[in-house]
Amino acid sequence: MTTLLYTHSACLEHDPGRHHPESPARLRAVLQALEGADFARLDRREAPEAELDDIARVHPRRFVEALLGAVPAQGHVGIDADTVMSPASGRAALRAAGAVVAAVDAVVAGEAANAFCAVRPPGHHAEPGRAMGFCLFNNAAIGALRAREAHGLARVAVVDFDVHHGNGTQAAFWDDASLFYASTHQYPLYPGTGSKGETGVGNIVNVPLRPMAGSAEFRAGFGREILPALDSFRPELIVVSAGFDAHKSDPLAQLLLDEADYTWVTEQLLDVADRHAKGRVVSTLEGGYDLAALGASAAAHLRVLMTAG
Ligand SMILES: [Zn+2]
Repeated sequence: MTTLLYTHSACLEHDPGRHHPESPARLRAVLQALEGADFARLDRREAPEAELDDIARVHPRRFVEALLGAVPAQGHVGIDADTVMSPASGRAALRAAGAVVAAVDAVVAGEAANAFCAVRPPGHHAEPGRAMGFCLFNNAAIGALRAREAHGLARVAVVDFDVHHGNGTQAAFWDDASLFYASTHQYPLYPGTGSKGETGVGNIVNVPLRPMAGSAEFRAGFGREILPALDSFRPELIVVSAGFDAHKSDPLAQLLLDEADYTWVTEQLLDVADRHAKGRVVSTLEGGYDLAALGASAAAHLRVLMTAG
């Protein structure tokens, strides 16, 4: 079995403005890194637009309609200081969420061992009723709920190694014991959530890492806190919020990971998925703002995904 790669050109057209770190060049860097012969076996698919019913499992319909209604015909509309929409942003957000939905459908159907969604805008800061932090819809949470509601999976985990805490995913999963959210992140850092004490109904695991922490702290925290909890939860699908901004080259944060850490964490997640989830992993791009590090890190992640099955 192969690895699926979902993307769409609309995700390149979402433009939060000149000098914004969440730029179309990020996605171009990821796609360029996946052009080599190593990646010829990827099964490349165009991401569909998410249906309102799929998004509405996470976000209230009125919020979704208001957000899409606020997409400007020209120029930019700011939602907050960091989160800006351009005319293509609604289409991009629908394709980003739709990529994860389609990837979940395909992986659960056994069409591939796993999938990576090369999409933007990212999603993990988007709370049920609030777009924020460069994120419009919570792509990972929408995918997780698709797996539970449309495919009847009993337990779905989201694991998030972006350098920022996924406050949106945590908020969406907070009191639902059939969902699990675990995150490593720099702390303190935007958005300010993600302390160890935030545990939901025992289904949330936060591993805050001090600024300047590197590979050793990351792997120790992940191995000691997240992997045992994930094993106990026994997910039937693992959704990965794959942000690569904990890389030592990233300009937005101060963790010191490199490509080898992304190889390692991907191997760990595939092992858990093999034990409990028939190997099923759906990964979606979150952050990562140094273009060279982002491309190399995403390639390292994909190389491991492609070893599965
Ligand atoms: Zn981030």
